[in-house]
Formats: sequence, structure tokens, C-alpha cells
Amino acid sequence: MADCIFCKIAAKEIPSTIVAESDAWVAFRDINPQAPTHILIIPRKHLERLADAAPEDRELLGELLLAAREVAQKEGLEKEGYRVVINNGPFAGQSVYHLHIHVLGGRPLGWPPG
Ligand code: 5GP
Ligand code: ZN
Repeated sequence: MADCIFCKIAAKEIPSTIVAESDAWVAFRDINPQAPTHILIIPRKHLERLADAAPEDRELLGELLLAAREVAQKEGLEKEGYRVVINNGPFAGQSVYHLHIHVLGGRPLGWPPG
């Protein structure tokens, strides 16, 4: 989608530190990390937010979660643990309206989140 920063990252029109990718998704380091490891996983398909996912996206959503697992394993987060987050909409603090999964790890994370 034009003017979507994450579509541009997926198309490599904007540079990012990509850690893994597939036909369906791209994983890259967050520009403003909130933990020692902070990776974003985005579908190549532009969906604004989780609330816009439809039954036809079932396989894609599954792939995104498996990607989170793959990336966490690659980054050595499995033993200590990690958090997987999707911010959906204004109250959740979503700031980029292209669906993304945060993978956070490398330090103990508080609960409940702010
Ligand atoms: P949200 O707040 O929407 O859940 O998360 C958006 C995330 O995207 C934020 O953590 C923010 O730091 C990250 N972000 C925003 N713009 C860029 C960018 O141009 N490059 C990268 N690598 N991350 C970005
Ligand atoms: Zn997009």
C-alpha cells in the first residue's frame, strides 16, 4: 500500500535490519527497541490491524506466530522466555497501521503491561 512504512520495509524501499523472511512475512529489528531483543514480524500483505483479519487470513496468521517462534529460537530467547505482542488500535498504543507482531526478550518483562 502506498505511504505505508511497513509495506516499504517489506519491499526493501526503506532500510531495516532484517533477521528472517519468507514469501509471506518479514522479520526485522525495531528501530526503538524496548528490550535487548525487539523484533517486528509483518505480513507482506497489508492488513491494517488484527481487527481487519478475516477467515481467509487463517493460514497467514498461523505463519506469523510460527515466525515469532522461529525468530525467538534464532535469537536464543527460548530458554529464558520472551513475549509476543500485537497492539490493536489506539488504546493498545498501535502507532503503525500495518499488522505486526512484536517479539520481545532478553530481560524480565513486567505484567500487566502499562
Ligand atoms: P506499535 O506501537 O504500532 O505496536 O509498534 C510500531 C513499532 O514500529 C514501534 O515499536 C516502533 O519503534 C517501530 N517502528 C516505527 N517505524 C519504524 C521504522 O521505520 N523502522 C523500524 N525498524 N521500526 C519502526
Ligand atoms: Zn502496509
